Amino acid sequence: MQEKYQVIILGSGMAGTILGTILAKNKVKVLIIDKGSHPKFTIGESTIPYTTQAIAGISDLFDIPELHPGVIGQKLERSCGVKKNVSFAYHHLGQEQQKDQITQANLDGAELHFFRQDLDSYLLHLAIHYGAVVKQNCQISDIEFDSNGKDVFIASEKGEKFSGLYVVDASGYSSVLAKKFDLREKPTHLKTHTRTLFTHMLDVSQFEACVHSQKVHGMPGNFHEGTLHHLFDGGWMWVIPFNNHKNSTNPLCSVGLQLDSRRFPKTDIPPEQEFFEFISQYPSIYEQFKNAKSVREWISTDRLQYSSKKCVGDRYCLLHHSYGFVDPLFSRGLASTCDCVKHVAQLILEAVKDNDFSESRFEELNEIYSRLLDLNDELVYGALISFKDFELWKTWHGVWQIPEFVSFFELAIARLKFKEGDREAFLKIDQFGNIKEVNYFLKQAVKEIEQVEKGTLSPEAAQKNLENLLEQVNLLPEGLKFSLSKRSFQTRWWAMLEFVHWLNFKSSPEVKQYYEGFKPMKTYQLLKEVAKR
Ligand SMILES: Cc1cc2nc3c(=O)[nH]c(=O)nc-3n(C[C@H](O)[C@H](O)[C@H](O)COP(=O)(O)OP(=O)(O)OC[C@H]3O[C@@H](n4cnc5c(N)ncnc54)[C@H](O)[C@@H]3O)c2cc1C
Repeated sequence: MQEKYQVIILGSGMAGTILGTILAKNKVKVLIIDKGSHPKFTIGESTIPYTTQAIAGISDLFDIPELHPGVIGQKLERSCGVKKNVSFAYHHLGQEQQKDQITQANLDGAELHFFRQDLDSYLLHLAIHYGAVVKQNCQISDIEFDSNGKDVFIASEKGEKFSGLYVVDASGYSSVLAKKFDLREKPTHLKTHTRTLFTHMLDVSQFEACVHSQKVHGMPGNFHEGTLHHLFDGGWMWVIPFNNHKNSTNPLCSVGLQLDSRRFPKTDIPPEQEFFEFISQYPSIYEQFKNAKSVREWISTDRLQYSSKKCVGDRYCLLHHSYGFVDPLFSRGLASTCDCVKHVAQLILEAVKDNDFSESRFEELNEIYSRLLDLNDELVYGALISFKDFELWKTWHGVWQIPEFVSFFELAIARLKFKEGDREAFLKIDQFGNIKEVNYFLKQAVKEIEQVEKGTLSPEAAQKNLENLLEQVNLLPEGLKFSLSKRSFQTRWWAMLEFVHWLNFKSSPEVKQYYEGFKPMKTYQLLKEVAKR
């Protein structure tokens, strides 16, 4: 017998389950199929303020209170870690880490280290609660797009048969539809080249305890209470503890090593051995991991970067992780996932209402997806070049914070506008979408740093040029820019008001026009309202 649905989602990760929840809540008959079953190990754990704000916005927009990050944080408090800051410790081959070669951004305390197996299970149950049908351990054997232009037929290896009007591919890297329609760009146009080795570990020491105490390194935040990155020429590492607050019952720490895949091509060495051999060249990193043990198999990948020719076709679209991926350095994966889920959900709801799933209705997604992927690529590509030299990295940290914070404030303001009844404002927004000056700034910065890679500019000269660029850029108030002299950034509760004040009195007319007269008093009132939630 064939089960009939309006929308079939392939993949029950964070993207598939949030989309399934939104559609089911809106009475769309939705099926979510996954080849595996929950709970399962998944990567993509560290949030950024944009991600949290985007999830909160989706929760408001589609009226799903259980999706609000505050609710998720409470429910999963014991297994998730806290992320109060993001730190970058720079290392030289064979030398102890130098305490004055660290940069840090302090956040407002709302960010999390998601323990994905618990989060994804929670989201799956939420989708079921709202009425989505879920098939786990369901291997797809066939997908047919009927020539009548209306139905999609899916068969499973167990002999089940499903039909739907529209299919969303949320199956991630191994995207079912990218394979079926040969959508991958070969080779990818992305400029970043990294591969990764990752796992969850026990007994990872706190960097402060084994290298420099907070008193010695002098950064405002404690590394253990945030996401710590170790940087070195040719790659970087993430350290994402889940056991970093008093209510945690999860002793694990997520660990990943990214290497330039051109300089360090994949080898036959078992990943655990490769990891320890590699970090033993950096004494302070080794010190942090010398007692650590993995609790699951290491995963070692080939080049991480992939991209697709398009994300939309006749009766289907991909979600962002199925479409492409760069590298997790700036934790932008989930932010892009949330932006795309919001757009796709809205387009599907409109298509269901009009009973019209024409490809042309979804075409705008192609521009959004490629913009998100390419801008993240530029940020990471520039960062990897900057890892040749600490001063160059420090300046690139300042560059990274401009688009990071501008897009955050854009989203935060759109969310406040939504509170005032302007639904479109939040619906239309996504990272790097509006303010052309941000894209222009980033392109200029990449142009400078690219010359270091080509050997036509020294790291010192590129650093000076980038510093000048940062001095000239008028996209954020001075107080919200990364301080090159302090090597850190400290957010504060009134940052939003500071931003709006600057917007009204000090920003350029080009920038001001994007915010349509958003006034300090109104912001203050709306912020109070949001804080009451
Ligand atoms: C190494 C690494 C580190 C990352 N770190 C971060 C980070 O710190 N912060 C961040 O924001 N982002 C990070 N990301 C990105 C993040 O993982 C993704 O944005 C996020 O997981 C996307 O969610 P998703 O649901 O689209 O895909 P996934 O989480 O990949 O889920 C895909 C689902 O599809 C299922 N599936 C696969 N094949 C099939 C099939 N044939 N049929 C049916 N189902 C199938 C899988 O079982 C899975 O449940 C990282 C990514 C990588 C690769």
